[in-house]
Amino acid sequence: MERVNTNVEFCINGKRIVDIGFFLSALKSLKHEGFGCSFYDMVLINEKIEGLESIFYFKCVMCNRIESVRSAAPNTFSSPNMAAVIGCVSVGIGHTQLNEFCASLDMPGMSNKTYQRYHSKLSPCVEEENKKLMKEAAAEEARLALERGDIDKNGTPVISVIVDGAWSKRSYRTNYNASSGVETTSIGLDSTIYKKISQINERLVINAESLLYNVDTNSAETYNSVVAKFVGGKRINYSLKGSYETRCKAAAISFNSKGNFLDIIYGSADDSVTGYYTKSFLKKREKQQLRTKKRK
Ligand SMILES: [Zn+2]
Repeated sequence: MERVNTNVEFCINGKRIVDIGFFLSALKSLKHEGFGCSFYDMVLINEKIEGLESIFYFKCVMCNRIESVRSAAPNTFSSPNMAAVIGCVSVGIGHTQLNEFCASLDMPGMSNKTYQRYHSKLSPCVEEENKKLMKEAAAEEARLALERGDIDKNGTPVISVIVDGAWSKRSYRTNYNASSGVETTSIGLDSTIYKKISQINERLVINAESLLYNVDTNSAETYNSVVAKFVGGKRINYSLKGSYETRCKAAAISFNSKGNFLDIIYGSADDSVTGYYTKSFLKKREKQQLRTKKRK
């Protein structure tokens, strides 16, 4: 604020994302005791842009007090910055596409640094939810193997293994520059299953006939097609800073949850309730999925 001329009204351009309820009530609360000033007595003197969020600075023309109002509550799963990164991972676009989308809306975009910061906050949550779903899938597989009588001499349930590979960027003969990869595989179940899962979690997705897509062909291929969506068809080299791994785990969550990555991620957040339109979208999609299932 130091270098801002507080006597000149700030010229604001373009559009912004605002949490409309939050923003309006913040504007309403702008009141100065004694002078009876309100929002109508304030002029916008500056804006601090933090990715898709803004802090607006107002100056009261009656008593010269300076007030700040945020466009949305920061640092929750539903704050615009975090929600945008979650959305990018969910639909399979990256930072570049997000900024092109914002530009089309005549909105400020997000710097790469800010994008990475929010992405780093999201990654542990994706990892955690992925682990939970994999444990569930493993337990379901063990149950089915026992039902079928697929057990070894020690009575340990055994499941089939499918191995396939996927890499973060297309490599052409002499151009093997992708620094990370993922394997889709499943393993024989024994008492150390969970330990094994956590050891090779980076590279493993269990092939289970119980998986909710209910596929009877090559499960690894199906998983790879979900990965392809989450990595945006390999248009970007995601190998930096664990982005590709996070996207593969996001794809695994989607694969193991009927494509409900958003539902799982927002459901895992304890700092906020899933937003109204997020919920209504998820409900609508659930209904569509049910209709499609019935038709089959
Ligand atoms: Zn005032």
